[in-house]
Amino acid sequence: MIISGKELSATLKAQMAETVATFPEKYGRVPHLVVILVGNDPGSVSYVTGKVKACEATGIKNTTIRKPETITEDELLALIRELNEDDSVDGILVQLPLPKHISEAKVIETISKEKDVDGFHPLNVAALWQKQPCTVACTPKGIIRLLKAAGVQIAGKRAVVIGRSNIVGLPVAKLLLDENATVTIAHSRTADLASVTHSAEILVVAIGKPRFVTADMVSEGAAVIDVGVNRDPQTGKLCGDVDFEAIEPKASVITPVPGGVGPMTICCLMENTIECFLRRQ
Ligand code: NAP
Repeated sequence: MIISGKELSATLKAQMAETVATFPEKYGRVPHLVVILVGNDPGSVSYVTGKVKACEATGIKNTTIRKPETITEDELLALIRELNEDDSVDGILVQLPLPKHISEAKVIETISKEKDVDGFHPLNVAALWQKQPCTVACTPKGIIRLLKAAGVQIAGKRAVVIGRSNIVGLPVAKLLLDENATVTIAHSRTADLASVTHSAEILVVAIGKPRFVTADMVSEGAAVIDVGVNRDPQTGKLCGDVDFEAIEPKASVITPVPGGVGPMTICCLMENTIECFLRRQ
């Protein structure tokens, strides 16, 4: 079974739109997300366009602030502080990656925890690991949603996550653990990766290498979540980290690229914006 993040996210966004439509009467306004885009990187421009469209679909107010690549770190941090103080703003997102002269860590730390819709702020990350209320990073949150919507039972299962980034691998491993899976985290130094992935009843792959996971690495009946977004070196088309065509017949469920985890990430960004708005009421 192919799990369509596109379909699930469309359903969830329609539900959110209904909820947001009730906010003007209840709270006098709708949630407001501000996205800061530095420079003209085509990938970043396309991601921001997707976020604007999702805001439009859910009725969330969106402001995109575009800044040239020459903006200094101080100027960007000052802009974020201004938005932190602005009562009409509920969520702030700075599109990554940033030019080399700007510290991403400083940018992430400067966005107030209450408006950190990405869930990257150290206080949100710490709260996640301490099981405290927090904003959960969008991609890991979307992955758990996809698994649950596909009817995959997580509790008691052996889950393997390949990748240990702060954005995907580590938080998704933590969320799977919180759902009572037994979790193994694999990475570039893992010896005999195939023997590890073979044990997986749930396999989440977040590496960033086209078709890296081959059919011989996956056990029959595994639920496979492909987070990777890559360009196929031969065709130039988008592809994931797993060899979809070869693995699909073996997997119980599998996400496609594009149309799997990606749409769920944006959908969960909308959800996080609404949550930040409601916490501030
Ligand atoms: P990242 O920070 O580069 O992390 C990649 C991880 O893969 C690292 O932990 C690395 O291990 C591991 N790795 C690299 N080569 C490996 C190998 N040969 N065997 C096993 N593990 C290996 O990347 P990321 O930010 O997590 O993103 C991963 C992918 O997901 C990218 O393609 C990205 O574009 C995509 N992504 C998609 C979405 C979405 O919404 N669909 C969101 C975010 C990211 P070490 O730690 O040992 O270096």
